[in-house]
Amino acid sequence: MNLLTGTSSNSDELQFALADEAATVTLAKRLAKYCQQSMIIYLEGDLGAGKTTFSRGFIQGMGHVGNVKSPTYTLVEPYELDSWRIFHFDLYRLSDPEELEFMGIRDYFADDCICLIEWPDKGAGLLAAADLHISIEYQQTGRTLSMQALSEKGQDLIKQLVI
Ligand code: ADP
Ligand code: MG
Repeated sequence: MNLLTGTSSNSDELQFALADEAATVTLAKRLAKYCQQSMIIYLEGDLGAGKTTFSRGFIQGMGHVGNVKSPTYTLVEPYELDSWRIFHFDLYRLSDPEELEFMGIRDYFADDCICLIEWPDKGAGLLAAADLHISIEYQQTGRTLSMQALSEKGQDLIKQLVI
């Protein structure tokens, strides 16, 4: 896992070169270890880029023991941990954003919740604003992952990765 840009500790944007799946999982686990506040993370990137892989590393890094399955068909998978509730969304198959209203989407953005949201564009207008944007891109080998902090909480979190 290589940090490509954003080496100063007050940078709002960091970019990493991730050679393989293990590197994606390692970075996600590291980020999770530093996550001590409620957090809303948007995950962007093409199908197969590694959004679910990253989410799995993050959720396991928060302390979940066991599988993390893709919420492709369920839209959301919940994880109840000791101090946190994690909600992992995949909105790819969302046909109408109104479905989110029926799900009671606002209740998912509470103070003890961490939300990971794949395909956030599909829920535009109904989701809480992101603290962190993660975007994963295919490279010839591996991926590049960019993370951009969009709130003070997001900044506090990502600066831990470069301290
Ligand atoms: P998404 O949720 O974005 O559709 P997935 O996480 O389900 O993508 O699938 C990503 C695929 O790419 C998996 O087969 C995984 O093994 C692989 N992968 C994840 N990270 C990397 C990486 N850094 N380099 C190469 N392959 C990766
Ligand atoms: Mg996915």
